[in-house]
Order: sequence, then C-alpha cells, then structure tokens
Amino acid sequence: MEIETIEMGEKKARFVIRDTSPAMANALRRALVNKVPKMAIDTVEFHLGSMRDEEGKEYESKTPLFDEIIAHRLGLLPVPTDLSLYTYKDKCVCGGEGCPNCTIIYSLVKSGPCTVLSSDMVPLGDPNLAICDPDIPILELGDGQSVMIYAHAVLGTAENHAKWQAASGVGYKYMPVITVKSSKRAQEIADSCPRGVFTVSASGDLGVEKPLDCMLCDSCVEVDGGESVEVVGDETSFVFSFETDGSLSAETMILKACEVISEGAKAFSESVDAL
Ligand SMILES: [Zn+2]
Repeated sequence: MEIETIEMGEKKARFVIRDTSPAMANALRRALVNKVPKMAIDTVEFHLGSMRDEEGKEYESKTPLFDEIIAHRLGLLPVPTDLSLYTYKDKCVCGGEGCPNCTIIYSLVKSGPCTVLSSDMVPLGDPNLAICDPDIPILELGDGQSVMIYAHAVLGTAENHAKWQAASGVGYKYMPVITVKSSKRAQEIADSCPRGVFTVSASGDLGVEKPLDCMLCDSCVEVDGGESVEVVGDETSFVFSFETDGSLSAETMILKACEVISEGAKAFSESVDAL
C-alpha cells in the first residue's frame, strides 16, 4: 500500500492510498472512527449550595439546564491528547484510582450573568491541557446563578462512546480514472460537471484539470452516452479524507490507525497459529 498526501493540515487530511483493496480502505476508515483513543470528560462532579464572590455577592449553585445535559456537553469537548503520555484508567499503575498518567482534571467555577465557554474549563496542572477550541458555548447563566464543577477526562475509544471519537467526516471514494476520447462536445461536457473537473482549451480541446474532485456522478458521460468521455473508479486506489476535533492531529490519527490495524492483524494471526 502506498500513501500520497494531497493535504495534511493540523485538523484535516486528504490523501490517496494506492495498491490496496476496498476492504483495507474500509478497515482504515473504521480504525479512524472508533479505534483511535483520545481523552474525553467522563465524570463530572457538581458542587451544590451557595457561593460568594470576592465582593461578597451570593450566588446560588443552579443552572437553567439539567446536570445531565451539562455533563453530556462537557463530554463532547475536545480534550488535547498526547497518546505517548496517557494510558487507559483501568490499565494504569494507579489501579483505576485516577492519577496524572490516566486522568486530566478540569475545574469550572463561573457566576452569571454570562455564557460559560469551553475556555472557562481550567485544567489542574499543565495549562497546555486547556480545551482545544476555547469558544464552545456550554451553558447560559442568569443573574445570581453559578456553577462549580470538577470534570475528569480519561482515555477511551469510540467503540464505547462517541465522545471518544476524534475523527469526523471520514470517507473515501474510488480513485476516478477519466479518459477523454473526443472533444466534439467539449464545452457541453465541461459545463455538465458539477465539480468543474474539465477545462476547454482555446483550441476547443477537452482537458481534465482536477481529476481528484470527480465524484463519479457520470453527468459528463450522460451528455453523449460516453462517446467523448469515459469515467471509471479504480478499485485499487482510494481518495481518502477526514477531519479531527482537534484533540489529536490528523497525522497522529493516521499513524495510530495504521498501528491499530497492524496490531489487530498480528493478534488475529497469533490466534490462528494457536489453533
Ligand atoms: Zn492512573
């Protein structure tokens, strides 16, 4: 299998994989979606009662939302994850008690009126562990209302809950192979393509400018029943794309997904040998 990068951003990747099979492309998709671990908030403690600010004003620890809804929203915040630092809580040396190797603790203390944002989640210890996107709204507090929360983030995978899913929009398509046989109806064919794949030169020749943008819709083929253009999907090459929520970089996700597939294949092979 060969990988050719088209775009590799911090949170977005687009690449071509060649000399492989649809099964392998799907294995990579599945690994990216639910096998790559990330940190996510799993436990939330709400502190009840009244609070006083520095000026002596009293606030009631209550919010317009149910605690469960707030906890769910906190679970979906992108927590920065260094996979070399963290381990699963149940496999940690602390025996599942919670320690810096397996848990990140955030505190949230806020009084209204205000909008509580993800930037209000303060990590205990390293400030680099602040939530990746600071502008995610969590809840609205009215005058006299306040929240005091301690939230614990742990490592997990989306096999257990979607909050541990770092990749979104994971998809692939067969590599389009476009052959131009005639330029007789060049302009008509170029205009028929919704993705602007074709160009028409000054001399009227039909050219393929952006083959990777082709979505195999066959609009160009339908113009003259395939007399001018032939479009097929190469079943051994795939154009792959996905985005991350920011907790892991796109590159780290690809490397980890490949590692997971490789480990799975090795474990399977060992099981077969044992039989
Ligand atoms: Zn631990």
